[in-house]
Order: sequence, then C-alpha cells, then structure tokens
Amino acid sequence: MFKRILIANRGEIALRVIRACRSLGVSPVCVYSLADKNGPWIEQADESVCIGPPASKDSYLRIERLIAAAEITGADAIHPGYGFLSENAHFAEVCRDCNITFIGPSPEAMSQLGDKVNCKRLARQTGTPVFPGTEGGIEDIDEAVKVAKEIGFPVIVKAAAGGGGRGMRVARDEAELRDGVGKAQQEALAAFGNGTVYVEKYLENARHFEVQTLGDNHGNAVHLYERDCSSQRRHQKLVEEAPSPGVDPKKRDKVCESAASLIQKAKYCGAATVEFLMDKHQDFYMLEVNTRVQVEHPVTEMITGVDIVQTQIRVAAGEKLPFAQKDIRVNGHAIEVRINAEDPDRGFMPQAGLIEQFAAPGGPGVRLDSHARAGYRIPSNYDSMIGKLIVHGHDRDAAIVRMRQALKEFQIGPMRTTIPLHQRIMERPEFTSAKFDIHWVERWLKGEAKA
Ligand code: ADP
Repeated sequence: MFKRILIANRGEIALRVIRACRSLGVSPVCVYSLADKNGPWIEQADESVCIGPPASKDSYLRIERLIAAAEITGADAIHPGYGFLSENAHFAEVCRDCNITFIGPSPEAMSQLGDKVNCKRLARQTGTPVFPGTEGGIEDIDEAVKVAKEIGFPVIVKAAAGGGGRGMRVARDEAELRDGVGKAQQEALAAFGNGTVYVEKYLENARHFEVQTLGDNHGNAVHLYERDCSSQRRHQKLVEEAPSPGVDPKKRDKVCESAASLIQKAKYCGAATVEFLMDKHQDFYMLEVNTRVQVEHPVTEMITGVDIVQTQIRVAAGEKLPFAQKDIRVNGHAIEVRINAEDPDRGFMPQAGLIEQFAAPGGPGVRLDSHARAGYRIPSNYDSMIGKLIVHGHDRDAAIVRMRQALKEFQIGPMRTTIPLHQRIMERPEFTSAKFDIHWVERWLKGEAKA
C-alpha cells in the first residue's frame, strides 16, 4: 500500500479522498490555490502545499507544481479526483515517468477509451451497444451524408475528443449535415486540438443510463450496476439515482456485463463509467466512457456497499479487486442531489461569498458529502457545487420520502442554492413516476417561465 497520497483536487472530492486514505491507513496530502487556503478540507490532511494563484490554469492544472508538491511531501501516489487533470493522459504519463503512481488507468487505456472514435471501435468488438453511424472519423462529407441517409435523420455530429457537451451539432437534414460537419471540425480543432468528428444517430427522447465499473491490473473487471441521471439542465446532471427505475432486469444485466467486458478489454485499472442513452424500448447506445471517479459515485456506494474510492486506491497499489461479480448485490434505492451555490430564479447564476448559516440534515440513510460549513467563504473561481446530499431507502418511494425530509432540514444561507429546486423536483409527477427523459427538467422550467 502507498505511504502518502497527494490529492490533486479541491472541495468535496478532496475530502472524499482523504476519508478513503484514512480507511486504508494512508497519509493524505492536499494542495491548494490561494483562493482555497481556508478550505475546510485542508485541515483534515497531514500536510498541505500551496500551488499557486486562484485561477485553475495557474494552480490545479499545473502538472509540474503538482509533481513538485508530491516530491517535497514524499507522496508515492496522486489521486486526481474528477475534473481538472483527472482525464489527462499526459499527466498520467508524467506521473509514471516520475515514479509516482497515478490513481487511475494507464495513459494508454485512458487514451483509448477517452477518444470517442477509438472507444466506439473497441465497444463494437466487445458487444457493447453503440449508436449506428460512421465507422470512424469523417474523411469525406459525401460518405457522411450516405451514412446519415442509411440510418435516417436526425443525426448528431460529435467530436472524437469532445467533452463537457462541446463540439456537438444536431442535423435534421442533408443541408444541415453538410453545414454542420465543417463547423464542428473547426470547433473541435479550436477546443480540443483534434478536429476529428463523427456522425451517429440522434435519439430524441432518451434516458441517461450509466454503468459503474472497476478493473484491476490482474485482468479482472466487474460492474456495480447502473445509475440513472436523466434529470439534467444544459447537459449538467442535477439528480442521480440507482438503480435506474423500471428497467427490465435481463436487459440491464446484459448492458452492465457488456460495460465490464469493455473495460476489461481495454486493460483498465481503476474506476470507469460507461455512459449510455436508453430509448423507450429499453435499447441502449453507448455515449462515452469517463475514465475517472464520477461526482455521482455515492449512489452506487449506497446500494452496493462498495467503497469505490478506497477500491481505486487498492487496485492502483497493485491489489486484486477484493470481490468478484457474484459478490456484488444491490440493496434498496439511492438518490443524490447536487447542492450548487446558484440562484435557480436568476438563470442559475453562481453565488460566491460567506456561508453564515449551515444546518446539515441527518438521520437513517442520509449521507452528506460536502466541504462547506458556516464560516466558509465560497470562492468565485471554481464550479458552484458545494456538496452532494445522498439518501438511501428500501425502495424508490422510501428514498424520495427521505430526500424530501433531508432537504427540509438542510438550511444554507444567505446565498441561494439549488435546495429549493430539488424540493420541487421531488414533488414533480415526472420525477415521482420516473416517466422522464433527459429533457424533462428543461421542458418543465421553460413551461413555467412562459406561464
Ligand atoms: P460530452 O463528453 O461532451 O459530455 P457526450 O457524448 O457524453 O458528450 O454527450 C453529452 C450529451 O449530449 C448527452 O448526455 C446527450 O444529452 C447528448 N447526446 C450526445 N449524443 C447523442 C445522441 N446520439 N443522441 C441524442 N443525444 C445525444
């Protein structure tokens, strides 16, 4: 096992990794920018190092400073969390060159799965269902038009290196496609330094279904079943839950098994999420693979009892996965809501400043993963998520009841947060009946704005 792990991140995920380190008797080390010097998570670390000014590009994204911090503090591994450098294969490679273990996949596995064209190719080989579309990147526009006519419009043009919902264009006819490909190529080149784009079928009313997987360096891979993240706004997830309500168990097992074989084929070590869209016939189409721990991993931890972050560390240290597929059982239902310091009444405007009031919810089946507390000043430099509230119940209805009460207890002020929005979501018939798709929240909010 490692002696010391440097956490190349901040906020709630830094705290989450510290907790996992402690569970293994490993010493956690934090880094922080000048905007985070009073971050409550830092006092939980054994040591901490300032790595620069507030802007992420001058601190949390500076590879040489992170490596220097690891060397100074004697850390033998780095946990990247999510966001920042967590999906940067170059960073994983520099860590390896410096004899520091990157807690995540090898740079090769990360590149292979992180490139959407390569990932789709590998998925086809392992029987993971993908959208029909072009085989690889588009070289000839006429070829793309031919494929689009075969699969039928609408189609979507996507960047191989895409992320964060950027570089995508829906085309509803041939003219839009011809126009869209060139524009998408330029956008992708500017945003990701890679202009490769591809075309696939566009699904209008899908649900977001993602499979949590774990692999080790001994050729083993398992899945921890799925999460449903259909409650989104602008491709940002607001609510996540597990299991995905109402899915046929046989179809679900099959897609989850295919996700595990995909990461096994990629010789993947660590936690990965294989994301799918699901249509109304419960057919699945892979979107992409996230090669890191995800924000919403706690819902899976709540229903399986597996500590995902601890397992990431153990397999990175060379251990075998401590369980086989047959040992993974699902118990009850879990729901997570993201608590963002944003004002839903003013276009979700981020809210920075001093938290004066902070009363955390509690009781059976309630988990709060947050770095926030009264007296903490939210900096304006980073994303607005200040915590995640997760509840567990014996079934979905029980989990919703628990979530309603937990949200009622949860008081944060004076800034606005997404708590009131989540209270309303928990009452919406679309949510309580689980008759929803990825556009339901936006459709609802738009309808209200009009009324
Ligand atoms: P990113 O890496 O930018 O997040 P994804 O491939 O995960 O890109 O897609 C982001 C979102 O775009 C999806 O959650 C979905 O809402 C939409 N999307 C992507 N591909 C399709 C598709 N083929 N059909 C319908 N919607 C899609």
